[in-house]
Amino acid sequence: MVDAGSFLKRNISEVKFEEMRDKTFELVTLIEMLCEVCQKPLGTKQKTKRKIRILTEEDYRNLLRRSAIHDRAEIDLEQNKIFFYDHDFPGDIHAECVEKL
Ligand SMILES: [Zn+2]
Repeated sequence: MVDAGSFLKRNISEVKFEEMRDKTFELVTLIEMLCEVCQKPLGTKQKTKRKIRILTEEDYRNLLRRSAIHDRAEIDLEQNKIFFYDHDFPGDIHAECVEKL
């Protein structure tokens, strides 16, 4: 399990190039493991982590294009972190969801 950052995350598509320009971000790819019953996250697993720099508008457009293939893409401009989320169903369910079955 990893720290998924602060609550200041925004959808990456809402953030303009000017806000990211000349910054270095930590790009974290996360797997969100979803409950088979309620489809809400059971937990998050970190897959990859690397640094990226956004210098040109081309870098920005590439980032947006890459973010589109993931289930969700968020950015935290306070911590300079970008999160790509993918979903997985590991076959587990929440303890409280067991009672609903
Ligand atoms: Zn559940």
